Amino acid sequence: MDGSKHPETAPVLILLGPPGAGKGTQARMLQEQFGFVQLSTGDLLRAAVAAGTQAGETAKTVMSSGGLVSDEIVLQILSDRLAEEDCAGGVVLDGFPRTTGQAEALDTLLETSGQRINAAIALEVDNVKMVLRIAGRFTCGDCGEGYHDNFKPTRVDGVCDGCGSTNMTRRADDNAQTVMSRLDAYQEQTEPLIAYYDAKASLQRVDAMGDIEAIGQKIAQIVSKVTV
Ligand code: ADP
Ligand code: ADP
Ligand code: ZN
Repeated sequence: MDGSKHPETAPVLILLGPPGAGKGTQARMLQEQFGFVQLSTGDLLRAAVAAGTQAGETAKTVMSSGGLVSDEIVLQILSDRLAEEDCAGGVVLDGFPRTTGQAEALDTLLETSGQRINAAIALEVDNVKMVLRIAGRFTCGDCGEGYHDNFKPTRVDGVCDGCGSTNMTRRADDNAQTVMSRLDAYQEQTEPLIAYYDAKASLQRVDAMGDIEAIGQKIAQIVSKVTV
């Protein structure tokens, strides 16, 4: 009727950055602030591993070595999740896409549903410092809130600020050996996506070495602009 180029569809935001860049932390903040669904392929894969599905079994070995799970498996779990009803209000993709193949498949998937990528937000960090962030990371096993031993401790030792749970978890792959492989995988296979989205004019760069809240404000400003 109005002939606009982009009829209103659910916003799609991508967070790009190496392991430890703050993708999960910021995606969770965007979920709270804007009501978008945080869609983390890492979380979806860990759920598949825990459920003991066939895809989970295959992914498990790859994840513990610090490599990337095959595009085939990741695309299947991502597209299944994206089709669920709660994603209709918009999504923040956290840790996806991670390869050019995944990025191309996402373009095709969104084309079919008449959606587009509103922004690919690259969290720019000092990769070397990510080792420290990952080594101190822990998560509330009940509500999913993320913490850090030094950079984002709980107010009361061992107790989740959000839900009061004491069920804190640390990821098996957050160890010094695996981290180096994960950073290599990022540089070799994921970093090229920055140029991919830059060429499509959807790239937004954010300095992500500062204070968590301040970075959140910069991202929220971008999101407000690109989702109107
Ligand atoms: P990613 O999802 O990109 O791997 P996370 O959001 O899990 O990263 O963050 C990794 C760790 O670093 C977590 O322990 C988190 O609390 C902490 N963290 C996140 N953002 C910052 C920041 N800007 N400064 C310091 N620590 C941070
Ligand atoms: P990080 O906090 O290190 O960014 P994630 O939770 O996003 O970690 O991912 C953990 C692991 O799950 C990765 O090291 C990789 O093995 C696998 N993984 C997650 N997302 C993808 C993806 N989009 N493609 C391939 N493998 C993935
Ligand atoms: Zn909690």
